[in-house]
Amino acid sequence: MIEKKFIIRFAAWALAVLLVFILIKGEIPLINQTVPPAAIFPIFNILVILEHFLFGSLSSLTTTVIFTFIGFFIVILYPIPKGAAFPVENIIVALEIGLMWVLFALLQRLLETVSKRGAKYDEDRENLEISLNEIDEEINKLPDEIENFTRQYNSYSQLKDISTQLGIVLEKDKLVKLIKSEGEKFIGRGVIVVDMCAETADPVCRWSIEKRYPISIKDIKKEGKIIGITGDTDLDYTSCIAVAIPIDPVSQEWGCIQIKDNTPFSEDDLRLFSIFCGISSMAITNAELFNKTQELAITDGLTGLYVHKYFKERFEEEFLLAKSHNLTLSLVLIDIDHFKKVNDVYGHSAGDKILVQLSGILKKRARETDIVVRYGGEEFAILMVQTSVDGAAYLAEEVRRTVQTEMFMIPADAQEGVLQKYLRLRITISLGVSGINNSMGSIADFINASDRALYDAKNGGRNRVETWNG
Ligand code: GH3
Ligand code: MG
Ligand code: MG
Repeated sequence: MIEKKFIIRFAAWALAVLLVFILIKGEIPLINQTVPPAAIFPIFNILVILEHFLFGSLSSLTTTVIFTFIGFFIVILYPIPKGAAFPVENIIVALEIGLMWVLFALLQRLLETVSKRGAKYDEDRENLEISLNEIDEEINKLPDEIENFTRQYNSYSQLKDISTQLGIVLEKDKLVKLIKSEGEKFIGRGVIVVDMCAETADPVCRWSIEKRYPISIKDIKKEGKIIGITGDTDLDYTSCIAVAIPIDPVSQEWGCIQIKDNTPFSEDDLRLFSIFCGISSMAITNAELFNKTQELAITDGLTGLYVHKYFKERFEEEFLLAKSHNLTLSLVLIDIDHFKKVNDVYGHSAGDKILVQLSGILKKRARETDIVVRYGGEEFAILMVQTSVDGAAYLAEEVRRTVQTEMFMIPADAQEGVLQKYLRLRITISLGVSGINNSMGSIADFINASDRALYDAKNGGRNRVETWNG
């Protein structure tokens, strides 16, 4: 197939040849009239333009050169008949040849501008394509990022729920169980161990507590030596994350939460588990502080025994329980004999030392279920649940005898001029015992009964146990 532009070229050149022929002949044979070259020459410019746009600047240059020669041939070499004036037309033709070159120069410039613009356009298009590819890549990454973001969002909202749950549990045992179950659920695998003391058996936890730093071990066999594990270990895991946490703000004690498994944990696991441990640590210290405050509110500052207020609350509960379930319940009231004298002779602070030592004896002699109370200044009480009056009297007698034989130590500087470091002293106590019975309508009746027995013990000569039998 012949291209369209070659047909155009052929037609244009045929026309040009015809025109040249006319120029040479000087007239159009059909109309038999002379055609001046100046009128035909501008038509050649069309050929230059055509060549330029269809075949490029080299073709248009060639065309321009050809027609320049033809022009010169007509103007300079064409013989002017003798005697005829130099035709003005020839000057016009020369000018037209000049114009043809100007046209060529303009076309050349136009081509350059167009090609420059084209190059810029190409460059812009290339840049645009690069940008489009980058945008495409970003768009392709979006689903992954959205998934990542959703996962993170879920983890954080899960952490928020965990924090709320842990924050309301104040019993340590329950809290430790909850930390374990929630942590395992949160990380999705592994076993959690909560170590509530620095002397833990696990070497990774020990390292974490010592350095106060979280640690992630991918393979204990390979990385164990980093934390000083040499040789084979009998550890039941390959990988673990251990995070040291403060567990007691008062004693500044540290513990550790560890998650262990047999496949390595990721960086993400370490980050999330560390946050989880931070929340757990806050819950533990919170519970610790709460328990300490509770303890302070119900225990006596000097002796560490329960205070009267707490005793009354517990007494009410145990009294109702014993009444409704027909259980035995006994109350022993204790008063130090002639304690005023001890204070007078050895000083009040020596008296306090005796109170502390005596409290120790009471706590030691009492059973786990007994409630030992500092009832008043130098008066004590032991509430014995599910204990008959005889059982209580037996235990009271034991306590009395122990106190009677005990050496109470008072610092020597409590008394002026005494050389030895401690003074040894003996004291005695009187005890009143009573057991629950149907005539008692309230704990006031019960206390009265023991009080009367104590009164009898004092009246009976002190250093003795008396029982109220109704
Ligand atoms: P009795 O054998 O009749 O019980 O004689 P007593 O001197 O022990 O008399 P009472 O039981 O009335 O004891 C009251 C004295 O106990 C008054 C006070 O000197 C002393 N006392 C009470 N509370 C404290 C305390 O907290 N510390 C000290 N050091 N002494 C106290
Ligand atoms: Mg007293
Ligand atoms: Mg007394």
